[in-house]
Amino acid sequence: MDASLLDLFWEGFELESYEIPPPNSLLLRLAPKSSQPPFCSDCGQATLLIHDVSRRHVRERDLFNYWVWLEVPVRRVRCADCGVRREKIRWLAGRRNLPQALVNYVEALVRLLPVKQVAELLGLHWHTVKSIDHQRLTCEVTAPDLGRVQRLIMDEFALFKGHRYATVAICADTQQVLLIGEGRSRKAVRPFFEWMGKKVCRRIEAVAMDMNTAMDLEVQKHCPKARVVYDLFHVVAKFGREVIDRVRVDQANLLRDSPAERRVIKRSRWLLLRNPGNLSQEQGVKLEELLAATAPLTTVYVLKTQLKELWYAPSENEARRRWGEWFAMALDSGIKPLMLFAKRLQSYLSGIVASAVFRLNTSVLEGMNNRIKVLKRMAYGYRDNDYFFLKIKAAFSGKTR
Ligand SMILES: [Zn+2]
Repeated sequence: MDASLLDLFWEGFELESYEIPPPNSLLLRLAPKSSQPPFCSDCGQATLLIHDVSRRHVRERDLFNYWVWLEVPVRRVRCADCGVRREKIRWLAGRRNLPQALVNYVEALVRLLPVKQVAELLGLHWHTVKSIDHQRLTCEVTAPDLGRVQRLIMDEFALFKGHRYATVAICADTQQVLLIGEGRSRKAVRPFFEWMGKKVCRRIEAVAMDMNTAMDLEVQKHCPKARVVYDLFHVVAKFGREVIDRVRVDQANLLRDSPAERRVIKRSRWLLLRNPGNLSQEQGVKLEELLAATAPLTTVYVLKTQLKELWYAPSENEARRRWGEWFAMALDSGIKPLMLFAKRLQSYLSGIVASAVFRLNTSVLEGMNNRIKVLKRMAYGYRDNDYFFLKIKAAFSGKTR
C-alpha cells in the first residue's frame, strides 16, 4: 500500500507486515515511521528519548469481509518538560486504545441498534460499546432550558425489573425531557418541583398525566395555577384493558359450546383495538360480522369511540355535556365492566374536561411511551438506569424553537 494512503488512517505509522488468521481476520502490524520523531501527548513537542514501548492489539473498523486488528507499538517518551508521557497518536482515541474511526462507527451504530448487537457485530465487549455510548450521551445531552416552560407532560414507566418505576417530565411545547428519576411516589417526584424552583412552578398552567398517580397531588401542591389534564392515550388504553378485554373474554366464555365462533372472538382483540380507518376492506367486513354477533362488544366499541370525543370538545361546557351523555349510556348498558369503569372515571372528570381548554397533544405522550419501550430494549440487559435515562434524554432533547 502507498504510504500516503496509510497516513489517511494511521498517521505516523507504516505497515510492517500482515497476517490473515482464519476464519476472516486481518492482522496488520504497524511500525512507527522512522522519518518522524514521536511527540509528547501533553505538550506536543517532539522528542527522541524513548522510555519504553508496549505493543497494543486494537480492533479497527472492518475492511471488506475482514475483521481488522492492528498491532501498534505505542511508545512512552521522556519529554524534557513533562517527564514520561505516552506519545501522541491522533487516531487512537483516549484511554480506550481504540481507533477514533471505530469509536465514531460505534457511536453511529448504537443510535440504531441495541448495545449487544453492536458488540456482536464489531467483536467488541458490550461494556466497551456501552461506555462509548455513555460518554457520547454525556457530552450530547445538555441541561434543559426552563425559561419558557409553561405546560408539562408527566408520565411513569417500568424499569428493567418490572416492579420498579421511573417518572419522566417533559416540556409539552418543546418536547424536551426536563427530568427523569426513579420512583413514582409523591416523595419521588417532589425533587422535580424543587429543582424547577418556585418561580417556574408558579408559571405552570397545565400538566398532562395518567390517572391514578401520585403526581396530581404533588402538582397541586407546588404549582398553584396548574390544571391537571388526564391524557386521552392513557384513558383509552385503560378502557381497552378493563372494558373491551373483559367483555371479550366474557363473550368467549358464553360461547364455550360453539368452538368456531369462540375462536373468532378470541382472535379479535387486535381488530377491536385498531383504528377502523386503518383496517382493510376485508378486515372491515370481518369486524362488522364480529360486532353483529356480539352485541355487548358493539356497545363497548361504540362507547370507546365516543369516549374519545370528550377530548375534542370545543369547550369545557360541551365536554361536560358529552360526558353526561356518555355516562348515562354506560350506566344504561347493563354491561358490568363498562358501568364500573364509568363510575371510576367520574371522579377524574375535572381533569378530563380540562383537555378542552388545555390541548396537550396526546400523541406526544403516546409517542414517548413507545419510544421509551424501544430504548429499553436497546439498553436492555445492563440494568444501568443512569445510562437508560441518558438515552431517553438524548431521544427527547427538544424541538428547536
Ligand atoms: Zn511534554
